[in-house]
Amino acid sequence: MSDEILEATPEQVVAVIEQMVDLPWPDGDDWLEWELDGIEGQTSWLAHLLPLAATTDAAALAAFTSALTTVANRRWGARRRFDATRFTDGKDTAPSDYDRRSAPAGLVRSLGADTASWWPLGSDAVVLIDGSRAAAEQKKAAVLVLPAQWLAGPGAEEEALRSPLVEDFLSGEQSRILHAVWAVVETRDPEILAPLALALPALEKATAKVDLGGMLISNNANLDHAFHRIDLFRTGACLCAAYPSHQRYDVENEERQGHIRVVDTVPNERQWEPDRICECRDCGKRFQVEQGEYHYTWWKWTVAPARPRRS
Ligand SMILES: [Zn+2]
Repeated sequence: MSDEILEATPEQVVAVIEQMVDLPWPDGDDWLEWELDGIEGQTSWLAHLLPLAATTDAAALAAFTSALTTVANRRWGARRRFDATRFTDGKDTAPSDYDRRSAPAGLVRSLGADTASWWPLGSDAVVLIDGSRAAAEQKKAAVLVLPAQWLAGPGAEEEALRSPLVEDFLSGEQSRILHAVWAVVETRDPEILAPLALALPALEKATAKVDLGGMLISNNANLDHAFHRIDLFRTGACLCAAYPSHQRYDVENEERQGHIRVVDTVPNERQWEPDRICECRDCGKRFQVEQGEYHYTWWKWTVAPARPRRS
């Protein structure tokens, strides 16, 4: 690859990635060469590696990885973020102190990137390394497929129980639990949701008998909804799947958070406001949202038909 970007559509790349999980592993430090659907890659002791680009055209590379990310989000759920600057253990680190995340992190940094996007795929992880913003003149990008355990820290479960929102849920105090509920309803941030997903059984048990009150809507229903969101995250579903089952998803707030964009409006004779057509920025799903007033402002999200496919 001298100066080129892989000539394949995002859908073709995704189809190759889904076959990469079944590739064999080499003995020792050898590299295995392979070809799937006419696309070539290699396998090391750590990961199956699919080179996507080595090019001086940063804008073209960014467009390529952005299109691939959109298709990947639709296929495997919203992407997660891996911060490669946090794991820098090397051969001088004592084995007992070595954080295994340093191995994939080293690969991410070697392509000139600080962070990577990743998606769970069964027990594997698909990591997209996009070096289009690297300082080097030649920008590189690649996909890694490797066992997901390489992206999980040691003692992740114990660590999760010390996250501030987990502590709020476990506190038994109404105000702290409600604070945690609304923090979960607002966010799609994997760094916030991942510890909660690991601790979910403990959270459900600890809050099962707590009465949270609530005037018009029972706060226990809001708590159940927060757990539903955590469970969607845990299973890799896109968090827009939570919209239809709760009435407090304010369109403007969701847009401000970067979760959706408003793409159209539709007149609604029953309401002061026209309905809005919203598109999820992670998976592309569309919703029609009616806004109304009854003691408080509510929003009713209904899945809208998919837009016609662009050819
Ligand atoms: Zn979505």
